[in-house]
Amino acid sequence: MTNLEIYQFNCRPDNFGLLVHDPEIGVTASIDTPDGDAINQALEEKGWTLSHILLTHHHYDHVDGNAALKKKWGAVIVGNEADAARLPEIDLTVKCGSPFQFGAHEVRFIDTPGHTIGHVAIHFAEQKLLFTGDALFSLGCGRLFEGSARQMLQSLNTLAALPDETVVYCGHEYTQSNAAFALSVDPENEQLRARANEIDQLRAKGLPTLPTTIGAEKATNPFLRAGDAGIRAVLGMADADDVAVFAEIRQRKDSF
Ligand code: ZN
Ligand code: FE
Repeated sequence: MTNLEIYQFNCRPDNFGLLVHDPEIGVTASIDTPDGDAINQALEEKGWTLSHILLTHHHYDHVDGNAALKKKWGAVIVGNEADAARLPEIDLTVKCGSPFQFGAHEVRFIDTPGHTIGHVAIHFAEQKLLFTGDALFSLGCGRLFEGSARQMLQSLNTLAALPDETVVYCGHEYTQSNAAFALSVDPENEQLRARANEIDQLRAKGLPTLPTTIGAEKATNPFLRAGDAGIRAVLGMADADDVAVFAEIRQRKDSF
């Protein structure tokens, strides 16, 4: 197994550009294409050649650079078969759960509907590496534009079932505002308080708060903690089912 090199950089006001590079085979994937110019600049800095574009979902801030990058590099654009009609310039459609090759590596899309119906997370299982787009954020999750709370909770539960040490990269730098909300529903969580302090320090220096890990998110992200007694006590929902608790947390966040 060769190591993959990840390059994370800022794109647009709060998106992340993410390049995944296999130094042995020399292939490079962009996870989504928030800004073609910024991605080209990052490729130039690294001296990498873009071979693949792997898409999480169809929103403009995730596919904006597809056409320009494909034209320049001839990169193969890979996306969820079930949402192919909405993914501009797509070349290769893959079913969720079916493996596809990135260089010598096996990659799978994990079906994560909720933010959009066709949203996927991108999983490099061997490397324990996960790109969650706008499904899971650090201390947050995507807004429910198309799916139901039940769908989103199921999507997040699927991601939370991955090994704790799985390294998670997200589509946006929303962590500091997510932390303020998370503390409002989970104020006694010591690990969350420590993470919030760390986030403030990182942001004060202009540094990113990502990547995170599945284990860290399970301990601190309220959207992965609908079963937590402390959060349920704050919400006054001790005996509600997880979907109802999750929906309440999501609704409170929307108006926070
Ligand atoms: Zn989105
Ligand atoms: Fe987005």
